[in-house]
Amino acid sequence: MAPAPLQRPYRGRIAPSPTGYLHLGHARTFWRAQQRARDHGGILILRNENIDRARCKPEFVEAMTEDLRWFGFDWQEGPDCGGPHAPYHQGDRHPLYRRALEALIDGGFAYPCTCSRKDIQSAASAPQGADDELIYPGTCRTASRSTLNPQTPTRPCWRFRVPDGEAVEFTDGAQGPQRLIAGRDFGDFVLWRNDDVPAYQLAVVVDDAAMDITEVVRGEDLLVSTARQLLLYRALGLPPPAFYHCPLLKDERGVRLAKRTAALSLRALRDQGESPPALRAGW
Ligand code: GLU
Ligand code: ZN
Repeated sequence: MAPAPLQRPYRGRIAPSPTGYLHLGHARTFWRAQQRARDHGGILILRNENIDRARCKPEFVEAMTEDLRWFGFDWQEGPDCGGPHAPYHQGDRHPLYRRALEALIDGGFAYPCTCSRKDIQSAASAPQGADDELIYPGTCRTASRSTLNPQTPTRPCWRFRVPDGEAVEFTDGAQGPQRLIAGRDFGDFVLWRNDDVPAYQLAVVVDDAAMDITEVVRGEDLLVSTARQLLLYRALGLPPPAFYHCPLLKDERGVRLAKRTAALSLRALRDQGESPPALRAGW
């Protein structure tokens, strides 16, 4: 009889961006992530997604760990240099993302794009995709590193060339079977910005793979991005994790909670004397 396949130990993560204070919506999604890690006897990682230095503020990083601890979160692994339970910081990991970008360029998956936002918006053939992102009209699709003119003052961003018409299918742990069509539901997406900042899609795939994450639990606003990311896993020759997308918390008017909803920041709730177990009741 063939031996039973070895189950990889469960490894989950929570990955906030320090662009503001965390609110109850984050806490609910993260709570599910923590719960799933515990239910599977696995571990949880905290990753500080501070890759966009202009938008991320150090005071929000400090607040992030403080607020998460207050709410009842615990994470079990961090970088060796950070001491116990320090989070990973994307800002420290640029070389890793750069190597992945180079591999994608060398493999013919990425091309340089010099279009401005205005160029893309004004292109007649730039409809919106399934998550309201504009579909890139493909103007620079045939460009490559060798066609880049070093004399041109405009620095390019790098885009991933999606396989037009291909159906990307996966089964989401919470939302069931998903099917998104490359080129229709989402277009060629940015891997590296022209201000030398790695894009979310690239950084998240590189990190989830490097950290050996077995299941990604996050908000359902990223469902379409999962299709983008699955294409990146394939292009990079990396095994993808499982995915579990949680419904987003809405306010009493049915509007999704955003970081601007200051009144529901974990900070404000704590100052008002709310208790985390009461806030989590029913989750
Ligand atoms: N850092 C991202 C955010 O705050 C989440 C990334 C992810 O979970 O994949 O929206
Ligand atoms: Zn372009």
